[in-house]
Amino acid sequence: MEIKYCWRCKMEVPMLNKEEFAVAYKLYGKGFKNLKKDRQERFKELLEYYNNLTGFGETEPNSIMHHSLEQIGPDCEKCGKPYRTPKAKLCVACGNKRRRIG
Ligand SMILES: [Zn+2]
Ligand SMILES: [Zn+2]
Repeated sequence: MEIKYCWRCKMEVPMLNKEEFAVAYKLYGKGFKNLKKDRQERFKELLEYYNNLTGFGETEPNSIMHHSLEQIGPDCEKCGKPYRTPKAKLCVACGNKRRRIG
């Protein structure tokens, strides 16, 4: 887990690494099979996992599904915000052109 700026949430959030995200993803799938009507109840396991891991206090299961370090790029050399995608060539925050990819 690492704290990174999220372009969708427009704030810094805890992003999960590959292993952590794999667990979260499984729990998310489990939530869909849960027949309880209350959304928070259905995704309780996922929210608990994420919040125990991060100490954050997330209430929206869908947000967790894009808080994955694998879905964003590395930090921009200029401004320090992450590139929006792993393959982005341009930093949306400061316009910096990425030197090389990978
Ligand atoms: Zn987000
Ligand atoms: Zn930048």
